Amino acid sequence: MFSFLIDRRERGGLLFRHPEATATKEIVYPVFIPYAGCPTRCLFCAQDIQTGKGEQSVANALAEAEYNLVRRPAHLPLPELAFYGGTFTALPHHQLEQCLQFASTMLAQGKVHSVRCSTRPDCISPEILHQLAKAGVATIELGIQSFAGPALEVSQRGYSPQVALEAARAITATSMRLGIQLMPGMPGQTFSHALEDVRLCTELKPDFVRLYPCLVLKGTALEQAWLRGEYQPWEMGQTVSFLAEACLALWRAHIAVARIGLAPEENLDTAVLAGAFHPALGSQARALALHTHIRTQLLHNPALAAHQGKDFTLHVPQRYSGQFWGHRADLEEAYTALGLCRQRIQFWDMPYFSLQYNNASPVPPCATAHSPTPAPRGSMGRAARRRARRLGEHNGR
Ligand code: SF4
Repeated sequence: MFSFLIDRRERGGLLFRHPEATATKEIVYPVFIPYAGCPTRCLFCAQDIQTGKGEQSVANALAEAEYNLVRRPAHLPLPELAFYGGTFTALPHHQLEQCLQFASTMLAQGKVHSVRCSTRPDCISPEILHQLAKAGVATIELGIQSFAGPALEVSQRGYSPQVALEAARAITATSMRLGIQLMPGMPGQTFSHALEDVRLCTELKPDFVRLYPCLVLKGTALEQAWLRGEYQPWEMGQTVSFLAEACLALWRAHIAVARIGLAPEENLDTAVLAGAFHPALGSQARALALHTHIRTQLLHNPALAAHQGKDFTLHVPQRYSGQFWGHRADLEEAYTALGLCRQRIQFWDMPYFSLQYNNASPVPPCATAHSPTPAPRGSMGRAARRRARRLGEHNGR
């Protein structure tokens, strides 16, 4: 089923790559214009806290950006100019003109190499797309949050699933890059809705996706709903399971996951009242996704069955050494259940994974199971087991 991921077999073992679609690492110079152009204040949104910037005028934001970009040391790599924090394409006409003029000037002067902006799906039109492309905007990030009707309705987003789909398709029909932002766990959304959102993304084929699990932030309308008991965000385990599954689905569709969770800002810690907020959230999700990928490789490879009882080593690219065992090694028991205890893992400098058999050696004592047969449930960490199981169930395994 996943044989497309297997490059070739070696001595009865197997070679495979990480399924990750890598995002180009951009150095971004952000111009934050919190709430500018927003038709309403969305019930979960606290841009001032999320961006660490208070409300400021567009003119001031541009003046500050110009000051910094013009003085940016020449030896530093050129950044990408990014208009974030509001609804860029719904700015009043003269402000949008000001921003686009500024962007064109910075591009012409070689102060930035590219321009991006974020906006809402109901603020996209053919005229706007033409205007952005003409000014040199290369990437549009759409804050879709969900394609599910009930989620959009309960969260009072003010547009229909159809509008969200059409906006995404309109951008992919241009030469500009599309980024989609999703908010799993938002009010009115079920786990199935969130999975369907990911599936739709794999159809729409944006260049990247950002996953921001819904949090209850101080000062938002969502805080009031949460206090009244009308909303409960997803708990951490459920969120990590979802994110891992989403990552795998997106990676397999060659879509990069550019970010998971809000970027740490100074006041964010104290502003988060409820929800899955953890500095290592992205790394936990990616680690669980990788475990599932490896588990799938082992369980679904009939060639391995012929080597029951033989010792083996899994070589893992060095770049994954930091996340391989999970946060605080919470995936170690799940790996051991696959026969992948620590002495069978070696990190190496190659960019792919390689499982190699050692025909001469007996199975060493660390292995609870040589074959990809999961160990008894009691031997796996509870949290890791629950997440791994949930992911397996959702994948139909
Ligand atoms: S979520 Fe987007 S559209 Fe809504 S208030 Fe925040 S920045 Fe504006």
